[in-house]
Amino acid sequence: MQEKNKLYKLHGLNDQQNQLVEQGLLLPLMESFYTLQGEGYNTGQAAYFIRLGGCDIGCHWCDVKESWNANVHALTNTVDIIKLTDQYQAKAVVVTGGEPLIYNLNTLTDLCKKKQIKTFIETSGSYPLTGNWDWICLSPKKLQEPLQDAYDKANELKVIVHNKNDFEFAEYQAKKTNASAHLYIQPEWSKHDEILPSIINYIKQYPKWKISLQTHKYMKIP
Ligand code: SF4
Repeated sequence: MQEKNKLYKLHGLNDQQNQLVEQGLLLPLMESFYTLQGEGYNTGQAAYFIRLGGCDIGCHWCDVKESWNANVHALTNTVDIIKLTDQYQAKAVVVTGGEPLIYNLNTLTDLCKKKQIKTFIETSGSYPLTGNWDWICLSPKKLQEPLQDAYDKANELKVIVHNKNDFEFAEYQAKKTNASAHLYIQPEWSKHDEILPSIINYIKQYPKWKISLQTHKYMKIP
């Protein structure tokens, strides 16, 4: 697959802002909050979530469609974003979106490392990997499959299952992912009740997979 190279563009920025975005010193921050990681391998851990605006993938079941347009989210100094963690006991950040790898995340992870905060990312893997990560959760999407580097470096593969055809996609993605990655199937929330029995049966049949549930939604926390 041909590597994408920063095709996503923020509008209306002056040259200086464009340069700062390229350098990862300014990022469109949609929201940030301290909570528990609800899903995947790190479920249950307290973490400071940093949600960046911008995504050009367009999953029809996306539950954060308001993140898609990066231009409506305030460009924020990366130093200030990380400074927000000072108010909490955060030992880890989860960088998510949108698709956070649209942006250069080197500065953000360097700042975390200086504060001994662990760095976790949730990504579709469709943009080149930047940043220094303690945990990469690769959640591939059919509309724009991951770059090879993401498959090679993922610590966790998390496939969202919306209907029974998605099991085939999950297996295809697992084949492309490095052999050490933890494999998760997660029910798409709006189809949760309908698809859960099939997921349970599937994992019993193919036990290399584990289930990931969006426990934060059960707990009614962000
Ligand atoms: Fe939504 Fe994530 Fe799909 Fe983008 S990749 S459309 S943020 S679910």
